[in-house]
Amino acid sequence: MAETPKLRLYNTLTRTKEDFVPLDPANVRMYVCGPTVYDFAHIGNARPVIIFDVLFRLLRHLYGEKHVTYVRNVTDIDDKINQRAFDRWTRKRPLLDEVKALTDITAAQYEADVAALGNLPPTHAPRATDFVCNGSQPTDMVRVIGRLVDRGFAYAAEGHVLFHVPSMSAYGRLSRRPLDDMIAGARVEVAPYKKDPMDFVLWKPSDPATEPGWDSPWGFGRPGWHIECSAMAGALLGQTFDIHAGGIDLIFPHHENEIAQTCCAFGVDKMASVWMHNGFLQVEGQKMSKSAGNFFTIQDVLKDWPGEVVRLNMLKTHYRQPIDWTVRGLEESRKTLDEFHTNGSAPEGGSPKEFIDALADDLNLPKALAVLHRYRKEERYADFNSAIQLLGLPTVADLRGRATIRFRASGVLTGVDSDSVEQSVSKRLAARRAKNFAESDRIRDELLAMGIQLKDGKDPVTGEPVTTWEVKR
Ligand code: AMP
Ligand code: ZN
Repeated sequence: MAETPKLRLYNTLTRTKEDFVPLDPANVRMYVCGPTVYDFAHIGNARPVIIFDVLFRLLRHLYGEKHVTYVRNVTDIDDKINQRAFDRWTRKRPLLDEVKALTDITAAQYEADVAALGNLPPTHAPRATDFVCNGSQPTDMVRVIGRLVDRGFAYAAEGHVLFHVPSMSAYGRLSRRPLDDMIAGARVEVAPYKKDPMDFVLWKPSDPATEPGWDSPWGFGRPGWHIECSAMAGALLGQTFDIHAGGIDLIFPHHENEIAQTCCAFGVDKMASVWMHNGFLQVEGQKMSKSAGNFFTIQDVLKDWPGEVVRLNMLKTHYRQPIDWTVRGLEESRKTLDEFHTNGSAPEGGSPKEFIDALADDLNLPKALAVLHRYRKEERYADFNSAIQLLGLPTVADLRGRATIRFRASGVLTGVDSDSVEQSVSKRLAARRAKNFAESDRIRDELLAMGIQLKDGKDPVTGEPVTTWEVKR
């Protein structure tokens, strides 16, 4: 058996690259903080999903598909969501049901967006609302908060429950910030019920007339953001697990506070062994913001670019570096993929050792992509195909499976809407399969009239009919 490469990961906790040693190699566990589903996800939100999907694929490759558990949560409790739900509330059903109806839509949209970018579904995608006070769940939020109060790490005051930061001597180990910075970074609210300005909210009161909430020992209210992840991770992965990840903005206060809650509630000395953080995405050199007019949702980007182009473009930069999202970069990524897809077909089952070694070195994607290019140059197509699948990008055979072939030489298609051509080609293939040759000929002639020449053939591997097309000159 081939030797398993040593996986090394950069750990924010120690600020070093370390050998990865799973707590249980038969069940490697990873938690990635997911989106707050109050609106469509933006292209920056796609970065952690894509990066940690590649890590998920790599872990499955190294430890076996059945031996990796990946949790990516959905935050569906949030004041902006509450406001929106309240605005459309007709009072015909409980406000919490209105929240659910709203977040069902935004969460489904999110799932569709990230699937279009080639990401595997995580093992579990828990929603925070299912873990607030679920009677059968020993680590739901209300019980974790109760444990923190019982153990002297949290206190109730004026309908709130607060985590008392000075009660935890190890607080701040992840972010390593001086206290003054932390106070500024957390934008701490000065409130009369706080014992210390750093204390953060675990539970807060809801006004039953205008805000959703749950009954709790501290009155009707709702959880704070940080406690959601401690509860969901605890329920699905256990009190201590292997990898916890998210964008770099989450180091403080979110991840720092998750550690505080989990360690103090359960009396463990760590929540996760490795903490990983992706750098931020900016657009054409500028911070992305609605006011600057350079804010793009995943859907905006997918209108102009195929999912695999967006994905490759995200993988070209090392995940810990900032990434500059540019049209030029996307154009180059499209060109690269078009080149990749002129590869000859190859059987499955390559063993792309150098490629995996690059990924196993703290996801060195730029290096891994260089190896991929080399495989292509050396016509090692079996290795190439195994490698590209680990990145979640389509192989030539995958594209043929879509029954159409993408256009190749860039630039030829000026003035032609490739999506509508591909739609017609698919329709014609369906007509041929149904032996409706009159319809299939009609579509062929219609395209010919537009200057598009079709060529029918067979996939060399599967024998399925395939149709390629080009613009007649
Ligand atoms: P949010 O819905 O804001 O909690 O973000 C969901 C995930 O996207 C978190 O892991 C964030 O760290 C990450 N994220 C948000 N904005 C960006 C960005 N501009 N670049 C990279 N990651 C981001
Ligand atoms: Zn989280």
